[in-house]
Parts: sequence; C-alpha cells; structure tokens
Amino acid sequence: MPYPQSPRWRRRLPVPLAAATAVVLLVSPAAATAPQPAAPADAGPVAGEQASVVEVLLDGTAGLDALVATGVDLDHHVERTEDGVVAHAVVTPSEAARLTAAGFTLGDALYRPEDSRARIAEREATIAAHVAENREFAAAASDPTAPDVSDVKIIRADYYTSGTNQILSVEAKWAQGQTASNTLTVERDSGPGTAMGSGGTQTISRFVDAGVYLYHRGAATVTARPEYVRITSPTGDVAVAKVQEWLPTPETSPEPPGYQKDFVTSYLTPTELYARIHQLAAEFPDLAEIVELPYKTNGYRRHAQAVLGTANASRVAVDSLAWGHEGGNDISVELANPGPGNATTGVTVTGSHIRVNLATDAAGAVTSTAAQVVAALNSGAGSLVRAYTYRGSPGTGVVAPAPRTSLTDDLSAPASVSRDPHPVYAIRIGKHRDGTKTGVLAYAQEHAREWVPPLVTIETAERLLRNYAHDGRTKQLLNNLDIWIAPSINPDGGHYSFYDFNSQRKNMTNHCPLTGAADFLGRDSWGVDVNRNYTEYSLFDGYSGASSSCTSGTYAGPSELSEPEDKNLDWLASRPNIKFSMNLHSSGNYFMWSPGAYALPDRTSAPRPSLADESFFWGASSRILTAIKQHRNMAVTPARTGPISDVLYSAAGNSGDMLWYKYGIYAWNFEVGTSFQPQWNEAHDETMEFANGLVELMRVARDYASDKKRPESTLTVAPSSTPGMVNVTFDVSEPAAVFYTLDGGAPTYESTLYGSAGVREGGETLTVPAGTRVNWFSVDAAGNVENNYQPDGNGKNYRKGQAVLPIS
Ligand SMILES: [Zn+2]
Repeated sequence: MPYPQSPRWRRRLPVPLAAATAVVLLVSPAAATAPQPAAPADAGPVAGEQASVVEVLLDGTAGLDALVATGVDLDHHVERTEDGVVAHAVVTPSEAARLTAAGFTLGDALYRPEDSRARIAEREATIAAHVAENREFAAAASDPTAPDVSDVKIIRADYYTSGTNQILSVEAKWAQGQTASNTLTVERDSGPGTAMGSGGTQTISRFVDAGVYLYHRGAATVTARPEYVRITSPTGDVAVAKVQEWLPTPETSPEPPGYQKDFVTSYLTPTELYARIHQLAAEFPDLAEIVELPYKTNGYRRHAQAVLGTANASRVAVDSLAWGHEGGNDISVELANPGPGNATTGVTVTGSHIRVNLATDAAGAVTSTAAQVVAALNSGAGSLVRAYTYRGSPGTGVVAPAPRTSLTDDLSAPASVSRDPHPVYAIRIGKHRDGTKTGVLAYAQEHAREWVPPLVTIETAERLLRNYAHDGRTKQLLNNLDIWIAPSINPDGGHYSFYDFNSQRKNMTNHCPLTGAADFLGRDSWGVDVNRNYTEYSLFDGYSGASSSCTSGTYAGPSELSEPEDKNLDWLASRPNIKFSMNLHSSGNYFMWSPGAYALPDRTSAPRPSLADESFFWGASSRILTAIKQHRNMAVTPARTGPISDVLYSAAGNSGDMLWYKYGIYAWNFEVGTSFQPQWNEAHDETMEFANGLVELMRVARDYASDKKRPESTLTVAPSSTPGMVNVTFDVSEPAAVFYTLDGGAPTYESTLYGSAGVREGGETLTVPAGTRVNWFSVDAAGNVENNYQPDGNGKNYRKGQAVLPIS
C-alpha cells in the first residue's frame, strides 16, 4: 500500500518508516490530544489518547463528502482507486470507533504512535550503529594477529580521464579517522607488472561532515594508469586495492549516423520555454501533448511600493493595495511641508496622488513622526495604500519632507511576460500516454537563476521527438515509456532572474511580515526556496539545510508544500507509473541521489537506500555519466557522485527526497556545469552533454521496464580472525537485494536483508559459526527473483549453502 509503484523488494520491506512519514506531516502526542477543529458533535477528544493515520475506504465522492462533514482530521491524501476513494484520517481510538459506528469502513492503520516511537528508536540506533561501527573497526584493527583486518580499508580507487588529464581518485576509511587528523599517503604502481610506488604517491584527507568522520578522499593527476594502489596507515597497517576505470569510453556510440541533435541556440525565458514545448506538441501530435499542471503560480507581479526617508525610526513604508500593473504603479506619495507654523497632519488624495501635509510647530519646523504619518495615510488614503513603520520600528522619528514619489512594483519584463498567476506546463512524450508505460519525469528550474538546466530538458525533448521517425533506439524509448518533461517549475522566479535580478534563486512570493522585510527594500530577498518546501525530511521534520527566515536563500516557506510550484511537482510525482526522475540544477557537475538530508547535531541521516538500491543507483549512474562524458570528455568525478548528503550538503525538504521516500521513484539530481549563467559557448556544451545523460536515463528506464532477466548470486566464505567463525559475503550478477536465513529456514521477504558495510563501502561481511547453513535468494529492481523462486516460505528452490571454508 505505501509504495504502490516501488520495486518489489522495497514494497516488501518491514516497517517502512519513510512511508510512514509520507502519509502524515507530523503526529505528535500534543497534536493528537489537541481539540479537533470540528470533532463529531457527540463527544470531544479523550485526553491522553494518541492518534493514528488510518485509511478510510469510501464508495465514492459522496462518501468522501460525508466523511469531511464529520469534521474528522484528514491529511491531504485522497486516492481514487478502481473501487472508490481512499482517504487518510488522523484519528484517536475513540474517534475511530465513532467513525465505524457512523457506518464508515476503516482500512489499514498507516502510521501509529508506535511508528513515531520506532522512528525515534531508529534514530538512536543509527547513532549507536555509527559509534559501534567505528569502535568495532578500531578494536578489530588493534588485534595484531588478526589475518582479515587492517585499520585502513580502501573503499574506491578510480582512474579516469577528464579533458586531457588522467586522474586517480581514492577513498579510504581509517579506524582512527574520527579522532586523528592525519592525511593518508597513497602509493601507486605505473601499470600491470610494475613496482608499487613506481607511479608516485598522493595524499588524501579526511572528509568530516557535521563532526562525523566519513572517510578520507582525494584526487590527483597521474601520468600512467596504475593497476594497484597501496595505503600504509600511520600505525603500519596496509591496504591494497585494484584500480577500477571510472566511466570508460564505450565501444559503440549511442548515436547512429543521422541522429539529430543541437536544437538550442540561446538561453530561453520561461515564457519561451513554454512556447517551445507547445510548438513541439503541435508539431508531433501523435507523440506528445501539453499538460497544464494543476496549480498556477502566484504570478510575476508585486504591489507598488516605496520607502520614504532614510533613518529607520523616521522611515515610512507604503504599499499599493492594487498590484503594480493594475494601477499601483500610478500612485504617488508626497510628504509636504505646509510652510506656516502650527499646521496639523492631513492627507489629500487627488486622483492617484496622495499628499500628506506634515504637522509643524509654532516656528514652522516639521513635527510629524513616522508613526503619525503612517496613521494619517491609512486613514486618509486607506483605499489606495497600506502604510507601516519600517521593519517593526515604533516610528518615533520625525519624518523629513519628501517630494512626490511614485510607487513602483519595479518589474522590468516586457508586457509579453504575463503578470497573472502563471500556468506551469509539462510536455508529455510517448506513443502511449495512458499510464500503462513506465513513467520518467525530468524537471528543471526549481531555482530561478539556473538557466542551463531548462535547456537540457528542451534539447532532450527535441531529440526524442525529431529522431523518432528514423532512429530505432529512439522509437524504442517512445514506444515503451511515458516521459514527462517540465522545463521550468518556477517561472515567476525565472522571469525575475532574466529581467530584474539575475541571482534570484527562489520564487517571488513574499511571506515576510510587515514588521520584517516586507517593504520595498526587501524585495530581492523574498521568496521560498522551492527545493526546500517538500514533505520528506524537511525543516519542519527537524532536518538540516533549510531556513525559517523569509529572507534566507534556503527559506523553507511557512509549511510543507505551501507553494504552488511544489504542489505541482508533488502532483507530477504522484502519477502512479512514474518510476524514474531527474531533478536538473546547476552548478558543479554533480550527480546525486537520496538521502539528501540529515539532522544535526549527530548527522542522523534520512534512511540510506538498501545495498541493492545503492548498487542500482551506481550502475545506472555509470551509464548516464558515460553518456555525458562522450560529448567532450568531461567526467563527473566519483567524489561528486553519490547521495546528496554525502557529496554536497544536507538539503532538508528537497524534491529528490520526496520522490524517493514518498513515491518510491528512483530520483536523481544533476548539478549541471560550472556556473549559473555561463557564456553561451559553455552553456551550449553543458546542454549537449547533460542531454546525452538525460537520454541515457530514458534508456535505463526502458531497460528496467523490459527487464526479465533473473539475478544470480554466489556465497563466498573466507577465514575469520575469531576462532570457530568464518566470514561470509554475497555477490550478485546485477544490482539485486539478497534475503537470507542462518537458521535453516526458507528465506522470504521478511528474512534478513543483506546490508552495506558502511557509507560507499559495498556489501557487509557476516561473521558466523563455521558450518552454519545459509539459505538465500536474490531479487532485482524490476522484481525478478533468482531461480524463479516464490519467496513465500513454501518454495524449495532457494539457494542453499554452508559456511565452510573452501578446500584449498
Ligand atoms: Zn539549484
């Protein structure tokens, strides 16, 4: 139920806490016992009861209306199914009983008080596990007789070319890394058969985030491709690893002769982006259509404003009641010195001109304070303007006379840019756009100033549509996928970035209070960071990397999904067939996935993907990044590939996390290129290379949709340093989850899931008594099970093995 479109293994995992948080914003005991706004009339809330989120199964819309009429607390989830409507109610046991008595049918409880407790327990377990992991590692490493442990472990050693450079990137974990600040020295050979050290050395440094040591990392240019690298830790322990090639050049070009590309010739404003996809849909009516998303933005528009005066205590802020383009810009205000002494404050309105006659003393000096002028304006011209003192000042300063000053919305876009709430459009591409095909979503310009990512989406849409008729591989994609491309999620901010304030990041909605930065001088700081306003692991859930300040660059908004831009993306992601997504940003040449947030001070991460999901992410990543590299040999580095919170920073409430945790979508994020608005030649290259990557994502999705290949797995047994024990690991032929038992029982989806050894470290090592029976099966992302085993506990054809050392 919580993951209707997710890969089977995740759907079957026990207690998906992420799913639980997806269906309710926050159920605290306090909220649960607070009076409901319109509780059923016969009884109030029962003190001390806690609430659960429960499905209510309804015949149809009339049933939903009846449910709403009871005043029960519903969250925003209403799902229309074949059988009717499923709503989610936040109810205590006595409220649930009243609903049942009133004839409503309750379904599953989706989130219970114990889930909340479990989430807290999970958090504590995560912290404890980090600490224990480091302690174990350090303890094992301190045993000088142990044959299978070293205090240093090489996680990745990647060789790649980028431009004309050859680069070696190394990541390693050292048992003392939390407490000691040493760098590590990496020695390398100079190719097969050469001596260790002959290729030179490089140092790698600690990667510490939020006070937690993660691993050492570093990259250096080399003159030859090494085969092996070696690290000798400061305590004398040694680790050796084989060097892998990162993003090798593929043998065949993905683009056959005649493949058409290169369709963008300049940056495009949101108005132009939308016009372009409308043209495309009109030109290819059999393959594409335009979808207007359900929520219009708040509009590229503002009230006309002015701030009169210079010293804060004597400043007067004035806003038009009308939008600037609807008359506000015609209004002017004057603070006039009446001349003779003993005048009183008065206001005259002539047409749209407001004249404030200031008060004077007997000598003719002005005596009106800012607060007095504000009061006079609001009473004398309150049908035209609203006045207020500056940023919460009591306004006790005497104002200075001011000449006639026009109020202005200060918006410079030509009239061809609409000032109305703006529709947001996506182009839907595919031969069968009926929801039966695997869906892929690409979306750009959550951040207004990032001008290249929208071009990547346009270039991709054009390549898909213009190559369909003559390129078999493109035809395969459009015949088998349902592709949604939204080139600009934030058109208001986008227009503002093009015409008014190029470094605009957020939308244009002013949530600042009149006592804050709501005045004319604050206008470039307003807005919500659209990519911090989503529902999972958000600021409102206590996660890091977003702000509650209305002027911050990462302002999360007043509440989750408060913004129409975010509601639109939530709507897109809730298309039930969408399984893959790409969130296009700039800049930095990153390629990332979840988790994208953690909570401080302990760096408690949102749940990490399973080992199988992680390996699926890495596998698809190498295809996508290889395609990117084909354009001009630009390599997205291993250090910039991985979970957002590992390689970049915590970004509470970002969209990638919502798509992954709430909807089970394989959600990636591009950070395209080197800057927000590079020179055109560079922007053009970035567009071409990341369009290669986005097309390759479509191919990943297509392969997933047609994947019928069953995974295969092997069990490896190795000596342990503990007497009587052996070390067991699993290997799989493709990204796949392994479920196993050690008690002789048949494995099911409830059995233990083979896990990761740690951040970026691959599969864990299980230490078990020699002779232990191991039963297991593997299942891939598309749900194919090894040997066609039915993992219900009754089948016999699971894999069987014994933890004994191979005879040597
Ligand atoms: Zn961005």
